Amino acid sequence: MARAKKSEKGITENILQFPSNKSKKLKKILVAGGAGFLGSHLCESLLAADNDVICVDDLSTGRIENIKHLFDLPNFTFRRHDVRSPLNVRVDVIFNFAGPASSPAYQADPVGTLFTNIVGARNLLELARRRDATIIQASTSEVYGDSRVSPQREDHLGDVGTTGPRACHNEGTRCAEAQFFDFHRLYGLKVKVARIFNTYGPRMRPDDGRVISNFIVQALRNAPITIYGSGLQTRSFCYVDDLVGGFMKLFNSSPDVIGPINLGNPTELTMIDLAHRIIRLTNSKSPVVHMLAAVDDTKQRRPDISRAAGQLGWRPHVDIDDGLLATIDHFDGVLRHAAANN
Ligand code: UDP
Repeated sequence: MARAKKSEKGITENILQFPSNKSKKLKKILVAGGAGFLGSHLCESLLAADNDVICVDDLSTGRIENIKHLFDLPNFTFRRHDVRSPLNVRVDVIFNFAGPASSPAYQADPVGTLFTNIVGARNLLELARRRDATIIQASTSEVYGDSRVSPQREDHLGDVGTTGPRACHNEGTRCAEAQFFDFHRLYGLKVKVARIFNTYGPRMRPDDGRVISNFIVQALRNAPITIYGSGLQTRSFCYVDDLVGGFMKLFNSSPDVIGPINLGNPTELTMIDLAHRIIRLTNSKSPVVHMLAAVDDTKQRRPDISRAAGQLGWRPHVDIDDGLLATIDHFDGVLRHAAANN
């Protein structure tokens, strides 16, 4: 059971409590990648809604500190496991968040990333089939590639390629999606596929390499803000609570909602705008510097969320400045803690 409280910034915070109804048959839910940034927030929301959660993570990019506050809860278990190997547990629902999401992380091990996306999804699909479980794929807007259409709707087939350094991630997640729809067609497996657009918030790693974590850490240190290329490329940033709310709605949706379904915030920003917002919100003295553009970078990304609005009744609520302030608080705490321990 969750009590919700509004923070000073208007962001809802879940306060975890033990389930109220001990006799109720709880759903057993496996969250693969559950110790990661998004997976750990999802574990909290599922526990707060009185479910049994089995968190599976190989801790390659996920971290124990994201979930250690859940270890004392009777309905939470953690298993260190790499989904590239098969696993067998009793489950009713599986969420697949396994795999590195930031471009430095997935480009550091492109072949491993491909195998996690493809073989990991296959292993979890086989588990769902054996257990007659529903399986929900955390796919990504990367399936649209460097899209020539904006906003991106789910029926856009994508402007993608196999030759660049992002291919391991976008082709890997495209293959994962294809397997989901094949298992649905061939075996009648209950599947749901969500495509996540850029998401940010507390628990991102300071060394994650994505733009929001880089800019905030740089601003808090008064170090140069590194814009790759012109800075005119755009992204649409969704606060983590909004995104997890979308997954909870998908989880509770009827079996005929299979997706793919975009989850993201349509407010689009250039990287120059983002840099100046973060400088303003942190009162930073950081200069802005332009570096070489990233290879294979996407120029424009913005979700069309009419399907999520129509089928799930979902849309994001957190304003970008409120979400950035909460994320700045998080990184401020992380940097202070690191300084105190040095
Ligand atoms: N970016 C940047 N400076 C950084 C990190 C990223 O200008 O320090 C740019 C990057 O080139 C891209 C955008 O910010 O155009 C978003 O990058 P991110 O890695 O956060 O997300 P993705 O490209 O995977 O959507």
